[in-house]
Amino acid sequence: MALNKLTNPIMKELRDILSPGGLRTSPEDLTAYGYDAYILEGRPDAVALPDSTDQVARVMKLADIHRIPVYPRGAGSNLSGAAVARAGGIVLCLTHMDRILKIDKDNRVADIEPGVVVADLQKAVEEVRLFYPPDPGSQSVATMGGAVMMNAGGMRGVKYGVTHDYLLGMEVVLPTGEVMETGSRMAKNVAGYDLTHLICGSEGTLAVATRITVRLLPKPEARHTLQAFYPVLDDASRTVAAIISAGIVPCTLELMDRTLIRALEDWFHLGIPTEAEAVLLIEVDGEQAAVDLQAPMLEAFCRDHGAHQVQVAGSAAEREQIWAGRRSAFGALARIRPTCIIEDATVPVSLLPDAVQKIQEIAGKYHLQIGIMAHAGDGNLHPTILVDERDRKEMERMERAFEEIVAYTMSVGGVLSGEHGIGSAKRRFLQMQVGSRALEIMRGIKQVLDPKGILNPGSFLDEEA
Ligand SMILES: Cc1cc2nc3c(=O)[nH]c(=O)nc-3n(C[C@H](O)[C@H](O)[C@H](O)COP(=O)(O)OP(=O)(O)OC[C@H]3O[C@@H](n4cnc5c(N)ncnc54)[C@H](O)[C@@H]3O)c2cc1C
Repeated sequence: MALNKLTNPIMKELRDILSPGGLRTSPEDLTAYGYDAYILEGRPDAVALPDSTDQVARVMKLADIHRIPVYPRGAGSNLSGAAVARAGGIVLCLTHMDRILKIDKDNRVADIEPGVVVADLQKAVEEVRLFYPPDPGSQSVATMGGAVMMNAGGMRGVKYGVTHDYLLGMEVVLPTGEVMETGSRMAKNVAGYDLTHLICGSEGTLAVATRITVRLLPKPEARHTLQAFYPVLDDASRTVAAIISAGIVPCTLELMDRTLIRALEDWFHLGIPTEAEAVLLIEVDGEQAAVDLQAPMLEAFCRDHGAHQVQVAGSAAEREQIWAGRRSAFGALARIRPTCIIEDATVPVSLLPDAVQKIQEIAGKYHLQIGIMAHAGDGNLHPTILVDERDRKEMERMERAFEEIVAYTMSVGGVLSGEHGIGSAKRRFLQMQVGSRALEIMRGIKQVLDPKGILNPGSFLDEEA
């Protein structure tokens, strides 16, 4: 069904719906909101920044009547081209709806607007000794709306899971402009199809989240953080597999290879040993007694598996420094080459050493520099291919390497994406993982909720353009 462009009379109606400053149409804004953190570029006709559910509903009604494409958006930090306005139309950016509405300490539940930044929610709940665990590396910019719609994970996934594990309910605006509640504020709720978790991870294709309810945990009493450096990368990945198979559950188990280590040291001069081939960042948390028991065990584990140096964070400042390094990893790589393509293949943890070796072979085969970082405890790899978008030949080699990583992942029973989603980046592979019938059913669900196909056209459900 053909979609339409925004005309001047519709633009006027849009301006009337939104608060002053809520409609942006300057060439600079249309360019800036045309990108997310993947390499694709789109160009919306307008950027709408609503500040209430009512405004979102009225924008959606208008778009429904005139068949205008709408691209919901948070911070635009997703890595799969899931928020790129490929068909023009309206970018509906939710960042002005950024209030934490309620932190219900007694029931350990928070109600928030979708534009709340993940780290701001974490800080706010920690002030009352509660804890919101999902922590994407982009937490200082990513919004809760974006995190819910990508089902974001992060560095604590190995122990605490991902966004959908904390999502209880939502208020959403459907593509027709109707407002609907899903889920509840209860920890347990079995009533018909679970629409909350159907919409979670739907990459902005089914509905616009305007209010989000999440469950919270008590804040862990103690934490212990260490970094173990290895002269042999394989030993680091074997340590990960061994820790998991021994039944130890750290809250963080991150791996970075020498490309990352050197990039970080070049940028921050942290004094990390640049001769190391790999580093593991490990954190355990929980009750003080349990943490005291696990901390020396982990250190011994690392040394027994070949770590030649172990740094233990002795203070909150030292812990923060270790974490700041890991959170800056993408940025450090971006200083090496102009274009970073971040893969998200996820394999069984026991196969992590094999997967790391395979990626290194693929890098050699295609003469590419690939930095490897991983939420290793989940088997979630982020091989980052460093290229220059302007070099056509190099981009072709990158595509082939990308496809080979995907093929390897599928061949060992892994998944296309652990947390970054499908978007435009991986839609050509989706059927390979889920099968044709499942894809057909997904398209059927989309048809029920969005019969005119106005929400996020060009998404993972569409045929390759
Ligand atoms: C440096 C860096 C590190 C990262 N680390 C991680 C990580 O560790 N783990 C991880 O999972 N991800 C990570 N990401 C990816 C990204 O940050 C997450 O996917 C994040 O959740 C996206 O949030 P956002 O606000 O930027 O959403 P956007 O990119 O703006 O949008 C993401 C998707 O959600 C839709 N959307 C946004 N808001 C709404 C809404 N209110 N209603 C309906 N649809 C909506 C959009 O249409 C789009 O499809 C990282 C990204 C970067 C750049």
